[in-house]
Amino acid sequence: MKSQERITEILIEKGNKLLKAEREFVEFTKDKEADKLMNDIEHNPHIFVLACVMDRQIPAERAWRIPYLISQEIGGYEFEKFLNLKKEQIKEIFNKKKLHRFNDEMAENFYLAIQKIHKDYDNDASNIWKGNQKSATIVRRFLEFRGMGVKIATMTANILARNFKIPMEDYICIDISPDVHIKRVFKRIGYIGEDSSNDELLYKARELNPIYPGIFDLSCWEIGREWCRPTNPKCEQCYLNEHCEKNM
Ligand code: SF4
Repeated sequence: MKSQERITEILIEKGNKLLKAEREFVEFTKDKEADKLMNDIEHNPHIFVLACVMDRQIPAERAWRIPYLISQEIGGYEFEKFLNLKKEQIKEIFNKKKLHRFNDEMAENFYLAIQKIHKDYDNDASNIWKGNQKSATIVRRFLEFRGMGVKIATMTANILARNFKIPMEDYICIDISPDVHIKRVFKRIGYIGEDSSNDELLYKARELNPIYPGIFDLSCWEIGREWCRPTNPKCEQCYLNEHCEKNM
């Protein structure tokens, strides 16, 4: 068997294992209290959705902490508390606490996301994904939130499927994230060329595993973070070592 084919097998096997594994606590932010809130998707699904809406042009850990920081400011994390907030109040909190790089704009997105959960999902954000939905339906629903692009919408759907074990009819529309670690690993394996675009990365993952292109996401991200560093990669410790082209 050719090396790349073997790597694909290993990565798909790993991805399937993660998908089928028991649910575990996810460390989103390195802040235990914020993480507890985000992981409690059964009782506070709006916290997870609002956190993902904030994930733009700042480190994810910082973005994902925003709903928790706001809940502290307003004395509660229940959806009603958020719904009672006026747009101007949210803007004030964002600016006072310097929550984001784009405080006014992201405050507006935060406010509109609350209103959308209220109007379209009956105050319960889990109605976005409840009922064994198609992955396309879930991604499209996230895309309807102001400020959520394809990258974040598919990443959010992927976290729901892989980490929170939300049942879905299929995983076809859950793409790989064009993350810097993932792209570097794809290049070094030889899946894509040195100058490949994010679209090429996306289509390569679709080509390799059309039923669930996002299956490569977490394993490649981990490889990139742990061993396949930009300089001095630790190939001898990486489980792809035997088969990897090591295109540096
Ligand atoms: S074997 Fe080396 S180059 Fe290949 S993915 Fe692992 S760390 Fe990266």
